[in-house]
Amino acid sequence: MKIVFLGPPGAGKGTQAVRVCTHMGVPQISTGVILRRAMQEGTETGAKAKAFVDAGQLVPDELVIAIVAERLQESDCANGCILDGFPRTVAQAEALEKFASLDAVVNIAVADEELVARLSGRRVCPSCGGTYHIALDDTADCKACGTALVQRDDDKPETVLNRLSVYHGQTKPLIDFYGARGLLKTIDGSQTPDACFADIIRALEADG
Ligand code: AMP
Repeated sequence: MKIVFLGPPGAGKGTQAVRVCTHMGVPQISTGVILRRAMQEGTETGAKAKAFVDAGQLVPDELVIAIVAERLQESDCANGCILDGFPRTVAQAEALEKFASLDAVVNIAVADEELVARLSGRRVCPSCGGTYHIALDDTADCKACGTALVQRDDDKPETVLNRLSVYHGQTKPLIDFYGARGLLKTIDGSQTPDACFADIIRALEADG
């Protein structure tokens, strides 16, 4: 199955994508993870993306479209994959239709007020990518690998508001785009991660 995970920043797309990938035995393709890795490694793609990512803006469509088109060619995607954070614009969704056919789009919905609190309190492990929240986890180090946790630059308050407005302006129209194609499954992302995961699996398996 090829599935897109859609939703505002902080809705839990990444967390749920990892769980659903493990459950289904398919790879997670996260454009955010790919871009941050490219930035850390100082590649040409990373250099092109950096100013946009740091400002909470979307990187240009052609850059992410090329990344995803190339990644989908790899053999581990033969039985499907989860696209996490792509597409984020109608132009990206239209490009994706030309090189992949989707089975479902999971839309994780969370109210803006809650997203601001979630993103501002988020801490990540720069080594293994683990995600924590200061209100839930009383730890300065990653519980999986011991690395000191950091706040993503784009989780700082001013950038968070930018990312939310980018979501409303450019990504939210995809709800109608995929709704019109009969692919959309909307999940209440304000629930606990376990309840959210159970709803996603139920919605995907209902397709049979
Ligand atoms: P994420 O980890 O998904 O929140 O993505 C972090 C940042 O990477 C975003 O704020 C954008 O700057 C950039 N990014 C990730 N995916 C895309 C995409 N599909 N289109 C444009 N920019 C993206």
